[in-house]
Amino acid sequence: MERLTMRALVIDNPGRIALTDVPEPQRAGECRIRVRMAGICGTDLQLLEGYAGFRGIPGHEFVGVVESAPREDAAWIGKRVVGDINIGCGRCRWCAAGVKEHCDHRTVLGIRQHDGAFAEVLSLPACNLHEIPDTMDDETAVFVEPTAAACRILEQIAIDDRTRVAVLGDGRMGLLVAQVIRTATPGVIVLGRHEHKLAVARALGLSTERSDSRVTPADRFDVVVDVTGRPGGLQRALELVRPRGTVVMKSTFHGEAGLASWPVVVDEITLIGSRCGPFRPAIELLSSGAVKVKPLISRVASLAEHEAAFADARRALKVLLSP
Ligand SMILES: [Zn+2]
Ligand SMILES: [Zn+2]
Repeated sequence: MERLTMRALVIDNPGRIALTDVPEPQRAGECRIRVRMAGICGTDLQLLEGYAGFRGIPGHEFVGVVESAPREDAAWIGKRVVGDINIGCGRCRWCAAGVKEHCDHRTVLGIRQHDGAFAEVLSLPACNLHEIPDTMDDETAVFVEPTAAACRILEQIAIDDRTRVAVLGDGRMGLLVAQVIRTATPGVIVLGRHEHKLAVARALGLSTERSDSRVTPADRFDVVVDVTGRPGGLQRALELVRPRGTVVMKSTFHGEAGLASWPVVVDEITLIGSRCGPFRPAIELLSSGAVKVKPLISRVASLAEHEAAFADARRALKVLLSP
């Protein structure tokens, strides 16, 4: 069968992305999904800078419509969906345990050996898909994947209504993380250094503070989530957490943290890495309005406007791409 072509943003060299005509993805046993909207996240900006030597089509936050599917998955055709980005091998012990995000042989949509969502069409197995309710618009649905990543924190550590949590970082991920944590405790504060982003946080009803303001030992937090995306974030998180507290590492910057590690020992800090999370609670939080995303959207651009879109994404909160 002749392969159709589509338009996609392709990284062919570190630092270079171009709108290109390429063959539509064709992966055995997967569904063909027409992308309606995709989101640019910090990981995409790092891939563009050469992280992981990525070549291909980036983009892993999306909402789309299933256009064709293997016969056994035909019920998905016509459904509006979002998708879990990890595709496991289906044979290893991780996959057997249902933890395909740690499968050694996984591919990852738009990140690892699997072309992504900055394209007209993408391919994913039906078992990765989640249907989106009609009441949720595309601009909201595209936030399911990063909201799920924020929900992962609530699976990893116990947070109750007395837990004091600082979210260090006022970017797009920080404001999602803070809203998700607010569903577990009112004691959450966003610490940042961009006044316009902190203003958005306050408009969402979140408490804010400058991240460089002085913290006395008595003010230290039970939990600090580092979502700065910067090497210095972890160091600052360790200054802000109380003895025997927990630091959640949500930044996947490309490089080394350059950390003085002794405070982790002396203060008996628990460090937890945190990546992808559960989609179902994310869909519920976005449906109920407990997590609001509209104030985070700075623009919706076409694929052809990618240069301006990526430039914006480096400064603004969320930039969406619509093919
Ligand atoms: Zn992302
Ligand atoms: Zn596997």
